[in-house]
Amino acid sequence: MKYYIADSAVFIMDGFKNINYSSFITVASVTEELKSDEAVMRYDIARENGIIVEVPEPDKRNSVIETARYTRDLNELSKADIDILAKALEYRDKENITLLTDDYAVQNVAELLKINIEPVAQKKIKDKLVWEKECIGCKKRFECGDTCPICGSKLKRKSKRKV
Ligand SMILES: [Zn+2]
Repeated sequence: MKYYIADSAVFIMDGFKNINYSSFITVASVTEELKSDEAVMRYDIARENGIIVEVPEPDKRNSVIETARYTRDLNELSKADIDILAKALEYRDKENITLLTDDYAVQNVAELLKINIEPVAQKKIKDKLVWEKECIGCKKRFECGDTCPICGSKLKRKSKRKV
């Protein structure tokens, strides 16, 4: 199976290559780099639809840091960058993976670590993302509000993808 390792740009620029979210792997620290509501929504949608979120292995992080120090990219790398590189390094020999990133320093380190990379190309058709409210009781969805008009339970915020 082909896996994509997704750095924050995938969520920021909607760089999903397909909608089979379970073929994407990322790390929780990418959320630190998601500033826009749209990017956060894309992350939430991916989580709801099976994207794999994992913790990087400490020894793989150390290898990444050593390599980045060698290429003089270490100062350019965020915690999320190091985490995602560590994750890609872990999967490099186990699965057919491609690291999706537009970050020059990340690409540079990945190249030295023999990790397959692909830039995050912007999609032509932008998906429309909206928030909805879902009742925690009867699961009915509403555009807004705090309390369910049907059963009186609380409404929880949910993201939804509109194509
Ligand atoms: Zn309800």
